Amino acid sequence: MTLKFGTAPSRKVVKQLEDAGYEAVFVGGSVRDHLLGKEASDFDIATSATPEEVKHVFSHTIDVGIAHGTVMVIMDEEPIEVTTYRTESTYTDHRRPDEVKFVRSLEDDLQRRDFTMNALALTLSGELIDPFGGTIDLQNRKIRAVGNATDRFHEDALRMIRAVRFSSVLGFEIEEWTLQAIEENAASVAHVSVERIKAEMDKLWVGIDPSKAFATIIDTCLAEHLPLFPDDVQVLSACTPFAITEQGWSALMLAGRFSAVDLARAYKLSNREKSFLTDVQAAFDRRQNGKFSIDDYYRFAVEVLIATEKVWQAIHPTEPGILVEEMMRMKESLSIHSKNDLKVDGKDLMTWTNQRGGKWVGDWMDKIEYAVLHRHCPNDAEQIKEWFLNEYKRQR
Ligand code: ATP
Ligand code: MG
Repeated sequence: MTLKFGTAPSRKVVKQLEDAGYEAVFVGGSVRDHLLGKEASDFDIATSATPEEVKHVFSHTIDVGIAHGTVMVIMDEEPIEVTTYRTESTYTDHRRPDEVKFVRSLEDDLQRRDFTMNALALTLSGELIDPFGGTIDLQNRKIRAVGNATDRFHEDALRMIRAVRFSSVLGFEIEEWTLQAIEENAASVAHVSVERIKAEMDKLWVGIDPSKAFATIIDTCLAEHLPLFPDDVQVLSACTPFAITEQGWSALMLAGRFSAVDLARAYKLSNREKSFLTDVQAAFDRRQNGKFSIDDYYRFAVEVLIATEKVWQAIHPTEPGILVEEMMRMKESLSIHSKNDLKVDGKDLMTWTNQRGGKWVGDWMDKIEYAVLHRHCPNDAEQIKEWFLNEYKRQR
């Protein structure tokens, strides 16, 4: 019997590796999520074949991380990551293995994985390989390091952030010894690259129970060693859950009273995320003075307003807030959403006045934009012309 697990192309990859005489299994998050009855998005495959051997088996492969043993196989147009069984030896800097050693035994590979629930493998025939009691931990909703937690966090301090990330995503508790090891090793998070921390934080934000993770981050003193984190998470927790990662970053920024620039720099956020946060900062200042105005609805994306309002309400729980539906309705009901929506442009102004271009054109386009936005004039070429010529004559 073959297993109804994974996508058809991913099953094909496992089958072809087996047919070529190698071992191949599904591993990692997809197996864990399957046992939790959740739909997995990507199906990672581990194999006894070396990367070179993997490349021989398949006609279309891409080298994505060959030094770490990962080859991307393109099967029926689907990209599938195949990673050679490996161990990682001597971590001198708490970050990355000094040397990746390929091994032929699945159990050795599973042993280097972070948590028991992530050290599970599933064969094509449906056999579950669980050498570290991952199934029981899943049942008990426990995040437990594989082997000695202190050693494992010493090898790679990111695992501590992964532990809190999983507690948010799954709503699980971190097992006692694992938690204690986080407390003892929290300071070594400072050695981890920001990019890796950021990737875990993005998943943490949109988990089902971020507050659980925040509490652990504070209790274990991880907060002191993260790039930026408030020492009080009351406001941050009151903002949960988050629909998108940007809401999480916004809440972190406002709850911690950090500036958008500082937060973006500390976590190496993308330019898009940075400009989102800059807008949230500005929208929050506006909101401190009262409900959002037409100009605010016009200026800010609705996602920015929603993220801002979420934090504002967490800080002012007894004051009347603005419903998401109301913000969406306000945004949609604007007469224009940008200058491009105006039915006239600068050339029209020059034609109507028989004047050459200049600064005046931009100034008048701003006035027209304001007039249409505030419904002093409908967004109609003829009516704008009439309104404009009137005002233009009056002001000359
Ligand atoms: P998600 O569903 O969020 O992708 P995941 O468990 O698949 O969760 P990944 O970051 O995709 O997480 O990693 C895939 C697998 O690789 C993990 O399940 C785990 O077995 C292993 N792994 C990832 N990062 C580490 C690490 N820092 N230390 C040890 N093992 C790790
Ligand atoms: Mg994954």
